[in-house]
Amino acid sequence: MDVPLLDLRAQYKQVKDEVREAIDRILESQVFVLGPEVKALEQEIADYCGVKHGVGCASGTDAILLALMALGVGQGDEVITTPYTFFSTAGSVSRVGAVPVFADIDPVTYNINPSLIEERITPKTKAILPVHLFGQCADMGPILEIAKRHDLFVIEDAAQCLGAKTQLNGGWIRAGAMGDIGCFSFFPTKNLGAYGDGGIVVTNNDELAEKVRMLRVHGGKPKYHHSLIGANSRLDAIQAAVLRVKLNYLDGWSEGRRRNAMFYDEALSGMDVKTPVVSDNNFSIYNQYVLRTSRRDHVIEHLRQRKVGCEIYYPVPLHQQKCYRFLDYKDGDFPKSEAAASETLALPIYPELSDEQKKHVVKCVEEGLN
Ligand SMILES: *Cc1c(COP(=O)(O)O)cnc(C)c1O
Repeated sequence: MDVPLLDLRAQYKQVKDEVREAIDRILESQVFVLGPEVKALEQEIADYCGVKHGVGCASGTDAILLALMALGVGQGDEVITTPYTFFSTAGSVSRVGAVPVFADIDPVTYNINPSLIEERITPKTKAILPVHLFGQCADMGPILEIAKRHDLFVIEDAAQCLGAKTQLNGGWIRAGAMGDIGCFSFFPTKNLGAYGDGGIVVTNNDELAEKVRMLRVHGGKPKYHHSLIGANSRLDAIQAAVLRVKLNYLDGWSEGRRRNAMFYDEALSGMDVKTPVVSDNNFSIYNQYVLRTSRRDHVIEHLRQRKVGCEIYYPVPLHQQKCYRFLDYKDGDFPKSEAAASETLALPIYPELSDEQKKHVVKCVEEGLN
């Protein structure tokens, strides 16, 4: 039995008719970039996250880039973030001319450890950029408190977390809505995936939203009059139309992922492997289901042999990337991230998995552990 890590064709079957109708509507309109469809999606995502503004852009990476630009983070500034994330998080910081400064993760949740942030703050620090990894929000209470005390911006990299929630000040708040600005990706493998690249920035701050709206069209407002130097980073109407259809299914899909996670948690509980830990104040949407074992490479080899999809997120922490040698970090500087990179693997968790497929995955993990 083949079990791919992700099977988007299974999802497509569910939405095919609606999506094709939506794409047809765009083709008939011949309005392809921004326009009413993008505007409608922006409002729907903002409402979904419980914030005032959504501003669509070309990718999740650009969402982070535009957020940094809008906050005026640039040359010589420092941004504190995690080394255990997709490259884009730190890459975007570098692209605005700022320096990513890493703080190690909590080894249980894999998210940035708030108690290691403060010692990394210098007079150059402008922002904290926590990543909500694998579908679970970072520990935002202390992060927001540190940011407030040191007058720093908080930019959430919520690319893997649309729909996740965290308990703050007695209420549940959605990912992206906790800091000054939140960044999402619509890359096809995210929980809400487009049929190509796309991203969105969300914020409650009117001024910031307006600035991102300008920056995504070269800083022109009115058109051809530039008070800012921006980028070409717009969302396509076809992507927005697809995403609007799929947004109606998102919570159902997240529930499916959560059910699958519960199944795995239970089925794997007797084995010598660590299953994901979601803290009590978090509601995970399981963009990934990540296991941990010292036998990781052996398990992966076995899963691949048995045609069960799996992947390492991420094999090389960012402080060990070749392009970041100039930052002068050493091996061992972030031991929790380094250990996670050598011991974790992601299993198929997509909502359309059948019971047989899940049982097969569990059986193959058990074999691989032996
Ligand atoms: C996917 C992802 C991004 C980047 O999104 P793109 O749309 O691929 O540019 C950024 N950060 C994290 C944590 C991601 O998972």
